[in-house]
Amino acid sequence: MNEMAREELAKYRQLRDEVSELSEKLANLHKDQMACKKACSECCMNFQVLPVEYFAILDELKQNPPAQYRELDDEAEECNFLIDDLCQIYASRPFICRTHGLPLLFMNQEGDAWELSACPLNFTDFEDFHAENTYPQDTYNSKIFMINQEFIKHYEAEQFGEFDLIPVNRLVVDLKK
Ligand code: SF4
Repeated sequence: MNEMAREELAKYRQLRDEVSELSEKLANLHKDQMACKKACSECCMNFQVLPVEYFAILDELKQNPPAQYRELDDEAEECNFLIDDLCQIYASRPFICRTHGLPLLFMNQEGDAWELSACPLNFTDFEDFHAENTYPQDTYNSKIFMINQEFIKHYEAEQFGEFDLIPVNRLVVDLKK
């Protein structure tokens, strides 16, 4: 991978730190309602991620391979890294996995109203949510989208369009190369 593509991976990791910090802050804010705990894997599935996120994770897993994984294919619903309800790539998990269980605020598909999504195991009352106590999903999706646009310009091994996504399960194939 060339230096310019690597620079975008570094920007992705910086943004990931921001997402983790905010997620921890929100989890703490909602700690009385958060039922999330080790071994709850209700939110886990074979997510599709942008190439910059995919290759940042691959880069880290090549240096620090997971102890165990499954070999389900790209089409599978389950994530290859969920073993006995525990994530085997926790330190490198994608953004979406870092926000599991939190109240997420996003614009609807029509772009004319805000929507809120939250785990029903954690939240039953949707009355008290506002911009300060929810995760601004669109903001971070836009930021990673911009970083990805630069990444795919400089990544030479494969060609990607700006809306292309890669299933996380493909990592087990690329880890063996
Ligand atoms: S990467 Fe980890 S947290 Fe994300 S879906 Fe897979 S097992 Fe769950």
